[in-house]
Amino acid sequence: MSDARKRGRIMIIGAGGVATVAAHKCAQVPETFGEIMVASRTFSKCEAMRKDIRLRYGRDIQTAQVDADNVAEMTALIDTFRPDLVLNLALPYQDLRVMDACLAAGVHYMDTANYEPLDKAHFEYSWQWAYHERFKEKGIIAVLGSGFDPGVTNVFAAYAQKHLFDEINYLDILDCNAGSHGHAFATNFNPEINIREVTQAVRYWENGEWVETPAIIEEGSVHFGFDYPVAGMKESYLLYHEELESLVLNIKGLKRARFWMTFSENYLNHLRVLRNVGMTRIDEVDYEGHKVVPVKFLKALLPEPASLGTKYTGKTVIGNIMTGKKDGKTITRYIYNVCDHEEAFRETGTQAIAYTTGVPAMIGAMMVLTGVWTGAGVYNMEQLDPDRFMEALNQYGLPWQVVEHEPLPDKV
Ligand code: NDP
Repeated sequence: MSDARKRGRIMIIGAGGVATVAAHKCAQVPETFGEIMVASRTFSKCEAMRKDIRLRYGRDIQTAQVDADNVAEMTALIDTFRPDLVLNLALPYQDLRVMDACLAAGVHYMDTANYEPLDKAHFEYSWQWAYHERFKEKGIIAVLGSGFDPGVTNVFAAYAQKHLFDEINYLDILDCNAGSHGHAFATNFNPEINIREVTQAVRYWENGEWVETPAIIEEGSVHFGFDYPVAGMKESYLLYHEELESLVLNIKGLKRARFWMTFSENYLNHLRVLRNVGMTRIDEVDYEGHKVVPVKFLKALLPEPASLGTKYTGKTVIGNIMTGKKDGKTITRYIYNVCDHEEAFRETGTQAIAYTTGVPAMIGAMMVLTGVWTGAGVYNMEQLDPDRFMEALNQYGLPWQVVEHEPLPDKV
């Protein structure tokens, strides 16, 4: 491959916490990301990023204002900048429109969260998987969910399937944030998307079927104390998470797949109160002649996730516990990463949740730009070879380890 091809061009859409980390990390790897553009709705945020990157690395990036919901505007911007890949780090609502623009312009696509319609708090891959044939015909790739979860957790499963197991039967993904941001209530990524996700009924997958359990703030929610490496014992709640949908199709031999996330009692109590008074509603209500969507209004009042880093202390611990067969024996392995909020802030000016999402977004983009991940069509991360991605995690700030572990209990 020629040097010119290796020094690619990337267009990042969005200028929030995750986009900030991805832009910083791309700027640190000029041999792969020769030209960087950050384009978002609020131009001043792109400019703030440009100045910070200039100060930290002496590199100039390009910036633009764009409405990612407007396919014609997006296509025109792509045609002007001619990136190799569009990294969509705006919100899940924009996914399909950005994919449309990538198809029109003929450039590769990547995101970190699957599409969700504005009017329904429901996310699933079917809308984006429906683009497979069109991307294939165009000869371009769309890689879905290149954050941590989804993203690294999918790659951990692919790596385990390739190197550690003959078949994986039980998969538990555990996401622990043992950090403290010093606010009474705040969300670690976009508040609207976060609240829509955690107030939904929960599902896990067992013996080919989805089993539903109550939402994390409801009576009867499923939770247990898990002793995390570094972070210690934390209450972990069963939650539906989007990577389960593709993993149960692509990881062979699975009998059960579950996702767990830690929540403090303080966070859950705030959420219950907000829900009880109607502030988590996603429909329009009339307020003195104005149409207001309560959860959007709430977002305007809450701290910006990107701003939380200034006071954040503690660590995140995210990984997969997998039980299955190897050479006729039943084994359990735990692959995980520990990330420190304060270190993430020192390096990129944001907290570890944004960091653990933005770094894999950069690495995924690197896999496409350097020709490690090729192909045409729409793919989830576990469908692509995990080896170089796993190496890059160690190299670019998210080191992982594999340890032996006890299997997780069937019932908690
Ligand atoms: P933020 O809300 O901080 O940032 C979103 C950015 O997108 C903002 O800059 C916003 O603009 C911009 N934006 C929104 N709508 C448009 C539009 N129509 N056109 C152009 N720009 C737009 O979110 P985060 O950075 O916290 O999250 C980014 C994405 O990452 C989300 O999709 C989230 O779900 C995903 N995520 C994935 C994780 C994973 O592990 N896979 C974990 C955490 C997040 P403005 O500044 O004007 O509001």
